Parts: sequence; structure tokens; C-alpha cells
Amino acid sequence: MYRTHTNGELRICDKDKNVTLCGWVQKVRNLGGMTFVDLRDRYGITQLVFDIDKNKELTQQAQALGREYVIQIDGKVAERSNKNSKMPTGDIEIIVDKIVVLNISELPPFTIEDDTDGGDELRLKYRYLDLRRNNIKKNFELRHQMALEIRNYLSSQKFVEIETPFLMKSTPEGARDFVVPSRMNQGQFYALPQSPQIFKQLLMVAGFDKYFQIVRCFRDEDLRADRQPEFTQIDCEMAFVEQEDVLNTFEGMAKHLFKTIKNIEFDAPFPRIPFSEAMELYGTDKPDLRFDMKIVKLKEKISNKGFKVFDDAQYIGGICVEKCAYYSRKELDNLTDFVKKPQIGAQGLIYIKYNEDGTLKSSIDKFYNENELKEIAQLFGANVGDLMLLAAGEKNNTLNALNELRLEMANRLGLRDKNKYAPLWVVDFPLLEWDNETDRFYAKHHPFTSPKNEDIPLLETTPEVVKANAYDLVINGVEIGGGSIRIHNQELQKKIFNILGFSDEDAQKQFGFLMNAFKYGAPPHGGVAFGFDRWVALFAGTDSIRDVIAFPKNNTGRDIMNDAPSIINKTQLNELNICLAK
Ligand code: ASP
Repeated sequence: MYRTHTNGELRICDKDKNVTLCGWVQKVRNLGGMTFVDLRDRYGITQLVFDIDKNKELTQQAQALGREYVIQIDGKVAERSNKNSKMPTGDIEIIVDKIVVLNISELPPFTIEDDTDGGDELRLKYRYLDLRRNNIKKNFELRHQMALEIRNYLSSQKFVEIETPFLMKSTPEGARDFVVPSRMNQGQFYALPQSPQIFKQLLMVAGFDKYFQIVRCFRDEDLRADRQPEFTQIDCEMAFVEQEDVLNTFEGMAKHLFKTIKNIEFDAPFPRIPFSEAMELYGTDKPDLRFDMKIVKLKEKISNKGFKVFDDAQYIGGICVEKCAYYSRKELDNLTDFVKKPQIGAQGLIYIKYNEDGTLKSSIDKFYNENELKEIAQLFGANVGDLMLLAAGEKNNTLNALNELRLEMANRLGLRDKNKYAPLWVVDFPLLEWDNETDRFYAKHHPFTSPKNEDIPLLETTPEVVKANAYDLVINGVEIGGGSIRIHNQELQKKIFNILGFSDEDAQKQFGFLMNAFKYGAPPHGGVAFGFDRWVALFAGTDSIRDVIAFPKNNTGRDIMNDAPSIINKTQLNELNICLAK
């Protein structure tokens, strides 16, 4: 038997027990007479103690242990004189009487402790060492627990987990595909699924009724903190449902996760906010509702005072930041620089301070007298001590800038508490999105999303205003998932393909198998997919999904540990009948 206990297990009640432990040497502290070794495994750290006066040879053996050596020890549990209340095993230590070195280790390239000295790239290169750190390891225990609870909940609701192919035909999520050349069908390529969208719809045609899959998806997109080329979705589909049924089922799943994983109960239903309202009030379709600070629309109420920036603007809006009227010139300049950053793109920022003495001071004093400023303050519902920040310009850009500003101010004020959760559904998304560059409509969600019944006639006249039966789950400003009720009627699907600029022939070529399946009695159906990595990251309190993916890629899509992607040899290329251009 290698061990009797783990390194996270022993407590004061185990005093005087003879134990055998195994693990990695985290640290050796040689304090002259006494030597201490921190022994680590997945479960925690236990302190080993060696007294040179009692056993010189053994103590010297302990002093010679290197970081990350794998050892086995025999010893007796003793009460510590110097207790460490921060460690679960901090009341005890092991008086060791035998050490067996199970394996030696080279000096690791960074310290394997909660606060490591390793930079991102180094830690990715030696990810197996990074994963030895218990504060990273706990993310994977959380991930496992969440997957288990998702399976429990969905199974209790009669969902069946069914696997779908990875080698398939291009899918419609709108990103670039990863492609795989076929040896047996030379000159032809599979695409890796951007999602199992088409298969789950086919499973509905097949009568499965309630499907789910915790599944890897592949999208060749530029990467950000919340994006990886391969990521995991909780992919779900149901038949004989309307939007309301889907939202209720998955609100149930979200509540189950909050309860079982975070011990948080949401009694009230999640708020549901139409897309248009989310844009007006928060400037984004994924609002962070942990704090208020809504955007106030001002255009009609405050222009025509001779201030050109306002008079020429398509839109004027602002936010009221409580208790920030004390902001200095420098802080305000700094905020102006923030909104002028190219990725935010506002022209500038206007402020109105509601000073503690009841006076108003603004950067537009020239155009607005004290009374007029007071009227503006009333539109904001501002109180003495508040700071109003206004932006003007093209509507969507300005709303976007106000969204970023709202988040920035909330960060500064500590209003985005990681332990607080504000879930909501955003509903009534537009069906289509016009793209000026390519001069055509794109599906806002994907081409199988159904328009709202009452809006179907508008497809002929004003397709841009047609709303979809589409919805997103948003938590703390993160889009956790989205889905829609699907089109199950061939004629309507054809019409949508036409609006999206697919000829009948193109549509047949790309999605013919789905269209064919729909000829054989497709039930009404709809579904949703959640970004599992994002959800785990949110519960783990980290901003980067890399922290919850065991072997993630870096920013340029490389696995720097095993050096992929890499060149393949000539024989492989020949077998695939592929000749590289360069
Ligand atoms: N397949 C969609 C996606 O990955 C989700 C859905 O409509 O169910 O975004």
C-alpha cells in the first residue's frame, strides 16, 4: 500500500496515529535543528518534521530532498506547537521515521505554489506542472462537479445524452471552419463542427424529443480571454416546445447549478429583457445587472442650445455615477482618454458634477446655465454628490462607449463583486443583421432560427425589423448561452435562405440533408447551447476560460506544450494528395 491517508486529510483527532503518506515535495525549510518539508498532493499539504538531535541521518536525507521529488514517508501524527489556522491540516505535523524517494525531479522552471513566479507562456509550456498547483486544480474539480450536476438535472428531466460526429460537413454558426483532409476521398475535406446544430435538429426529426451533449466545438476565430479554438458547449434540443418551455427548462438547470454548486437560491424568475431594451438601457445585449447605473437617453431633451456636438449628434446619452462628483480634472481627463481609445471609439466625454453644496459644474457651462443643468440632472435622477457622464455621436457607437464606461465606473467603484450573480434572459433578438460591407443580411443567430409568428408577413416588406424566437442567458455581463426556436417548415426555411442570399441550389448543397429530413415530418423544436468553459470560469471567479481548460491554446492558437500545429511529413501529404503552395 503506497499510502494510508492523503495530504489533506489528517486532523488533531488523528494524533498518535502511524501513517504512510505520498506526494510531491513543495518546499524544504532547514531551520538548523529542525527541518520542515511541505508534502503536497491533490488533496492538500501536510507538514513533515525532522529533528536533527533525534535522527541525524534521516534529517540530512530530508534536507537533500529537491523540489518536486516524489516521496513516501512513514511517521506519526503529532500536534503542532506552531499551529497554522490557514491550512486545514495546520494543527498537526508528521514526525517522520522513514523516507523513500519514489522519484527524483529536475528543478521545475517555476515554483509550484498558489502564487507562482511563472509567466503565462512558461506555465502553458509546462502545463502539467502548472496543473499541480492546487488553486488551479480546484477549477477542474469544480468543472467536474458542474458537469455531473448538469447531467443529473437534464437526466431527471428525461434528456438523453447522444454523441454526434466530429468529422462532418460545414456548419452554420458563422465562424471559419477547421478542415480535415480525407485520405479515402482525395481532394475532399471534412469540417470540424462549430456546433452540433444540424445533428441535434436531425435528432428531433428522429423523435428523440430531449437531447443534450456536453461536447467539444471548433471555431477558427481570433482569440480572446473568453475564446479558444476548441471549447465545450452544453448543447441541448427539445421537440414540441415553445420559447417559454425552453426558457423554463434551462432556467431550472441554471438554478440547479447555482443551488448545488454555489449554494445560492434564486426564488424569483430570472428577469427577461428584450434585446432593444438591453441596448437602450445598457448599450449591450449582455448587460451586467449586478449594479444599476442605467443609460439615460437625452437627445430630444437637451439639444438645440447651440452646442454643436449635441446638435449634430444622432444620439446623446449618459450615465449617473453615484457619489463621484469629487472627481478631479485629472480623473475626468483619464476617463475621456478611456472612452476615446480606438476599441471604444467615442469622440469625447462631457461631465456634469452635482456638487455637495448643491451647485452644478460641467464641461458645457458655456451652453447650459445652472437651471438647465439642473433639469438635465433631474432627467438622470441625480442626487447631490453625483457625477453625470455624457457622450454623443452615432447611436450604436455611443451606446457601445457608454456600456464600456458603465462597466469601467462599476469596476472602479467595486460594484462587480465576483461572489454576486445577476442572471437574466435577453429575448426578442432581431432575426437578421444587415452588413454594409457585403451588402446583405446575415442571420443574427443562425439560419434555422424562426421569426416570431406575428412578424412573418414583415419578411416580405421590412425584414430588418423582424424579431426572432431567440434568447440568450447572460450572467454578470457574460453571454453564457443562447438558442432559438427553429424553423420546421420547409417553405419558411426556403424563404429565409433566400433573404440570406442563398440560391435554392446553394441551400440544397449546404443544408440539403436537413431540408430533406424536414420532408419527413419534422416536429416543432427548439434548443439552446451554453458555453461550459465560460460558465465554469464564472463560478471559479476567473476572467479567462484558459484557467478552466486543462490544456488550452495560447493567443495565436498554438499548443506550446506539444508544439501544435506543426509541419507534417511528405509521406502524409502525399497520402492525402496535398501539395503545399509554399
Ligand atoms: N448552435 C447554437 C450555437 O452554438 C446554439 C443553438 O441555437 O442551440 O450558438
